[in-house]
Parts: sequence; C-alpha cells; structure tokens
Amino acid sequence: MSLTAIAPDLRLLFVERTHSRPLLVDPGDRATGSRVGGAPPQAISADARRCARCGAALLYVLTLEGDVLGEVVARARAASLLACGGGCLGPDPVLGEGHASMVVVHSPSARGAATDWQWAPGGRGLSAGALELDPDPALDAVQPGDPPEWASRAWPAPPPRRGSKVGGPPGFLRGPPAIAKEAEGLGFLCQIADDLGAIECEARTFLLGGDGAFYLHGRVDGALPSLDDVGGFSQF
Ligand SMILES: [Zn+2]
Repeated sequence: MSLTAIAPDLRLLFVERTHSRPLLVDPGDRATGSRVGGAPPQAISADARRCARCGAALLYVLTLEGDVLGEVVARARAASLLACGGGCLGPDPVLGEGHASMVVVHSPSARGAATDWQWAPGGRGLSAGALELDPDPALDAVQPGDPPEWASRAWPAPPPRRGSKVGGPPGFLRGPPAIAKEAEGLGFLCQIADDLGAIECEARTFLLGGDGAFYLHGRVDGALPSLDDVGGFSQF
C-alpha cells in the first residue's frame, strides 16, 4: 500500500505517530467486536493455552479487532490477550511485571462457550473501545525537516502518552528494546497500561498493568503494522 493510499487517521496513528487513540473499557457487555473478559472467542475456546512457567491455564483477558485497531490494520483478524492466572502470579490475576502472557491471532468470532479459563466465571464481559484521535508527543522531538541546529539542542521533549492507547509512539518503551522491534520489521500497535486499572466482573478482579505497559506490535507491511504477524510483550 502506498503512503498516499493510507487513510489520514491511520497515517497519524501508525506512520507519522503524532496522534493516538486512548483505549477505554465500557461496562456494557457485547459478544462481538473488541471486548474484555467474559468467555473467550469461539475461535480459540476449544483449547486452553498453558503458562510456560507454572503450567496453569492462561486466562482470557481481552480481544481487539478492527473496530479499535482499524480494519486495514486488523485485516479481518482479531488479537486476543491471555495472561497467567495461576501460581506464578500470586493471589490476583494481573497483567504485570514478570507475569506470563501471550497474544493469539485468530478469526474474529463471537464469545464461545464458557470455559474454566475465563476470569469472570459466568462469562459476562465488558466492551473495549477507543476514543477519537488525540495529539501524542513523539519520543524524538527532532523531526525530519527541522532546522539542523535542533538536533544538538537539549530539547525538552514531552513523553508520549503512557496510558492505554492505539497508535502513536509507545509509552514506556525506549532505547534498545524499541529499536530491536523496529529492526525486526515490527511496528507498535497498541499498549495496555494501568490506567485501565482493576477490572471487576462477577466479583473477580483482574489487574491490568503495573508501572509499565503490555505492548502489541505487528509486522509492518505497506507502511502500516498489521495483525499478520504479531508479537506481544510487557515492559515494566
Ligand atoms: Zn503461570
């Protein structure tokens, strides 16, 4: 895809990275589209994934689809996040430092049957959505086309948004880890941070984030990251 063919909002989010869309969680449940908690999507509900550390079933946390990521980015796929709910975590399910997690890419599908690896036992969940485009300061204040003397200036760059968001620059990820992702041909898609807080559903709590974020990166193809090849990891 040529740069000129990319929709203006996707350019700002994933190419120029001057803007992001804050993620939010809505208490209203829905069975399709981007969502949090509840029974896992039918496409992945047949088999539990196991934690590589403790062997416990990974809990289904959330699914992001094209309604949040952009249909051109999602490419008719969905990305679901799973995190360990077992013994390597301590008393509460949490997406945080040192806690096992994984991302599974699958066909978009509605919630399947209830499993024993969902954090709300009855299967009720929440909706995930994203707000409108919001300016997001870039990590590097010196942009192409800026006067050359700016490159040597100790520029007081404001940090990128560190809350949960889609697009823009990653919030906490700096230095070699960020450079390594780009070198692998991956682009930042979204992050889940502690502003989403402790999500309670059916009297069970799942803590999203700590002092850092969970990052989702996708293979860059035609200037945009996509769900064709996805990696997820946390940095706290
Ligand atoms: Zn575990």
